[in-house]
Amino acid sequence: MIISGQVVTLQGVVAQQIEVDPAAGLITRLGLHLGAADWEFSGLIFPGFIDSHVHSREFAPPQQSDVPAWRRYQDHLMRETWVAAARAALQGGVTAWLDMPDHPEPPMCQATHTKKWTLMRDLPVTAFPAVAIGPNSEPVPGAPHQLVIGHSPSALTFASANEAAAVLARYRGCHIIIPCKGYNEGGAADGRSRACHTPEAQEIRTITTALDWKDRFALNLHLAHISAAASLETIIDYNRGKSADSRVTCDVTPHHLFFSTETLNQSDSTIQDLLLTNPPLRSELDRRRLLSGLMDGDIDLLASDHEPHTLTDKLRLHRCGVPHLDTMGGFVGWLLQVAGFTPVRIAECFSAVPAHIWREVFPGHGQLAPGKRADITVLDPDVQTSVPFPGRAGLGAGRQLCTRCGWSPFGGRELPGSIRAVFVGGDLRYRWPTEESALLER
Ligand SMILES: [Zn+2]
Repeated sequence: MIISGQVVTLQGVVAQQIEVDPAAGLITRLGLHLGAADWEFSGLIFPGFIDSHVHSREFAPPQQSDVPAWRRYQDHLMRETWVAAARAALQGGVTAWLDMPDHPEPPMCQATHTKKWTLMRDLPVTAFPAVAIGPNSEPVPGAPHQLVIGHSPSALTFASANEAAAVLARYRGCHIIIPCKGYNEGGAADGRSRACHTPEAQEIRTITTALDWKDRFALNLHLAHISAAASLETIIDYNRGKSADSRVTCDVTPHHLFFSTETLNQSDSTIQDLLLTNPPLRSELDRRRLLSGLMDGDIDLLASDHEPHTLTDKLRLHRCGVPHLDTMGGFVGWLLQVAGFTPVRIAECFSAVPAHIWREVFPGHGQLAPGKRADITVLDPDVQTSVPFPGRAGLGAGRQLCTRCGWSPFGGRELPGSIRAVFVGGDLRYRWPTEESALLER
């Protein structure tokens, strides 16, 4: 199979062809005159996007006879399922994601991790479960682990740094993801008080604590969703003079790059509730510094932190987090067309670099090159993504949000870019606009 168009590699953007061996699911050659094209695309041909932080909410089902557990399971499925998240991922150009373990049945050891991974293996995109760290958890060799510094007390969060450090001693040398949230120093985390969660000083404290643990336990540390300029400067200071292997890596979300407290000040209370996140939106200066940090490479990755809370969760319970998977293509279009990113930088921060950091779980992903997986995302920056408000039409003819929660923080906006096709392992899994989108129905 031969695909023709503007191909984005780490060297640049070149009009050329990609030859794919569909049986092996691999790219065999890149070049100018490989043969008659099976697919010819306008727009940009990227390596499949890799999302390093997705909350897909589904987990291994409990026994139906355990009524409270079954109800809790059904409640989570209202927000998202693996299949719905996979469809949303394809619509956003995402071909692989790292699945976060914050749900009632988190994988916390080899057996529970294998159970969840087995259930996720048949999805139309690659999804790998990260492992939760709790007081009684065990390391899973090769897997990324997540440790949450407690914003609200649960089996997965630690009330103090000392408790967490005692457990981390078992995780020497492991890959650890720590979200930039803070200890709950301001009392109970209920209702609107969560709006002011993780003040900047707490976020910095979390980062310096995590960096101290990195040194003490030789952790392979990744800091998830940094939100403040001061956080980035702390990370840059730590990394100064360090080799590539001993650096800490970090990511930033679309919402911290697109919205700020200025957006909140200009919005009504509904929009303010929808944009509640933890860490919260920061100032316009912070937002601009994060954009330049991602552009320069001081921030390693773009990661969605896709959190599919329902509108009831958001408007009545004031839950933190926003869904993103469906709109990642439009958002990348915005990075290219408005924020001034080059296609090569997108291919780095949303494909090659995450594939390198998580190389044990996504081997062969992340680049358009011979021998690599034929995960390919075609984005047309000249076609707008019209993002719908809940219950209204949008995204372009025949397209709706696939996420079960059914809304987007970009609702009512036009994003300057749209995903046209996605191949996973050389297999066409998403095409728009044509009837071939029906491939998604499973
Ligand atoms: Zn998260």
